[in-house]
Amino acid sequence: MQFWEQELEVLDRNKLSQLQVKRLKDTIARASQSTFYKSLFSKKGITPDSINFVEDIRKIPFTTKQDLRDNFPYGFLAADKREVIRLHSSSGTTGNPTVIYHTRHDIASWANLMARSLFTAGIRDTDVFQNICGYGLFTGGLGFQYGIERLGCLSIPAGAGNSARQIKLMLDYETTVIHAIPSYLGRLYDVFVDMGLDPRKDTQLHTFVIGAEPHTEEQRRRIEEMFGVKAYNSFGLSEMNGPGVAFECTWQNGLHVWEDAFIVEIIDPDTLEPVPDGEYGELVMTTLDRHAMPLLRYRTRDITRFLTGDCPCGRTHRRLDRITGRTDDMFIIKGCNVFPMQVEGILMKVPQVSSEYRIVLETINDVDEMIVEVEIKNDLTDDQYRSLEQITKRLVHEIRDEVLAKPIVKLVEPGTIQRQEGKAIRVFDNRKKYETSCLF
Ligand code: AMP
Ligand code: ZN
Repeated sequence: MQFWEQELEVLDRNKLSQLQVKRLKDTIARASQSTFYKSLFSKKGITPDSINFVEDIRKIPFTTKQDLRDNFPYGFLAADKREVIRLHSSSGTTGNPTVIYHTRHDIASWANLMARSLFTAGIRDTDVFQNICGYGLFTGGLGFQYGIERLGCLSIPAGAGNSARQIKLMLDYETTVIHAIPSYLGRLYDVFVDMGLDPRKDTQLHTFVIGAEPHTEEQRRRIEEMFGVKAYNSFGLSEMNGPGVAFECTWQNGLHVWEDAFIVEIIDPDTLEPVPDGEYGELVMTTLDRHAMPLLRYRTRDITRFLTGDCPCGRTHRRLDRITGRTDDMFIIKGCNVFPMQVEGILMKVPQVSSEYRIVLETINDVDEMIVEVEIKNDLTDDQYRSLEQITKRLVHEIRDEVLAKPIVKLVEPGTIQRQEGKAIRVFDNRKKYETSCLF
C-alpha cells in the first residue's frame, strides 16, 4: 500500500489523539483572537488548559451556520487581515453569505489534504486530471485545483458545463481522471452517445471523483459501468475548507476523515449527545489546522455514521458512511445548495403571486430539475394577467441568481397546489437517483 503522508495516515490512534489534543489547544488559542470566540470563551471560561483529552472538546458550545451569518463579515476572523489571502463564500443575496477566510498556511494545508485525498483514491502524478467544476467563490474549483497541482498531475481547469467541449478536452489531452458532481454524469454520458462515442473505448478515463451532493451506492455503480471507471466519493463543506475533508480509499468502503486536521463527532441532533459508533447522527466538525478562521464544534447538519472496524488499506483515520440526508431543509440541485426560504424570499416579492408554492425536484431526461410552482392571486386585473409571462421569466432569472441553479417556474391557478394539514411541506423530491433519509 502506498501513502502520500505515511507518518500521518497510519499514525497509531493514541498518537493521533495526542496530536488532536495539542492542535485543539492551539486552535482555542488562535480562535480567542476572533470577536465571536473571544466572547464565547470568556463567558464559558474556556482556555487551552481546559483541554486534556479529546473528549474535553464537549466543554465547548456548538457553532452553527446562524452564528456565522450573525457575525458576518469578520466576526470569526482570528488572524490579522494582512495574513489573509483568500476567501470562499456561499451564494446568497437574501441573508448573509457564509464566508471562510484562509491564510497562506491554510491554503497550503488544504492543498496538502486534497493531494493526500486524491492519492488515497489511487490518483498519481502521471494522471491527467480534468476538473469539471465551477471555479470562483465555490470551493470545488480552486480546492481541487491546488490539490491536483500539489500532487503533480497535469491539471485541466475545465470549469462546469458545455459537455461537448468537455469531451473534446478529454480526447485531446487523454484525460484519465475527472471530478464532477454525480448528477451531471448521466448527461455527460448521453452527449458521448450523441457524438457517436463510447467513453469505455474512446477515452483513457480510469478514475472519477464524485461528490458535493448525496448519491447512492447504486448511482455510483451505474456511473462506473457507463464509463468503465472507478468512482470515489469525496466529501467536504466550505466551512471545513471545502473538498478534502473525507475521501474513499481504493477499497471504496467508506470515507476516511482526516483526523489530524479535524475532530469529528456524531451527535443526536435532539439530545446533542454523542451517538455510539455505527449509529446515525449529525456530523459535527472542528478544524485543527486552520489559522485565519478556526471553527469549533460546527454543526454541519449532515447525517452520517462512523463505520466500525479497521480498513484493509492500513489508514488509521476513521471512516464515515456516505451522507444520507440532512437535519435541516437544505437540498442540493445541480451541485448548488438551496434552502427553500431563498426561493420563497424571491417569490414573495412578486405582488401577483400568493404565498402558496411548492418546489418539486424531478429527473427529466436524466437531468435533475427544480420546478417551482406558485399560485397566482385570484383577483388579478387583465393587465396583471397579461404580465404573467414576463413575471415567469423574471422569476427564473432571480431564482437562478440567488441559488445558482436554473429553475423551471410555473405560475398556476389559485387553489391548484394541494394544501396539507399542519406544517406546509414545500419540497417534494421525486428525483430518480436521490434517496433522502428521513431519520430525523
Ligand atoms: P458546500 O459548502 O457548498 O461545499 O456544500 C457542502 C454540503 O454538500 C455538505 O454539507 C453536504 O450536505 C453536501 N455534500 C458534499 N459532499 C458530499 C458527498 N460526497 N455526499 C453527500 N453530500 C455531500
Ligand atoms: Zn482505507
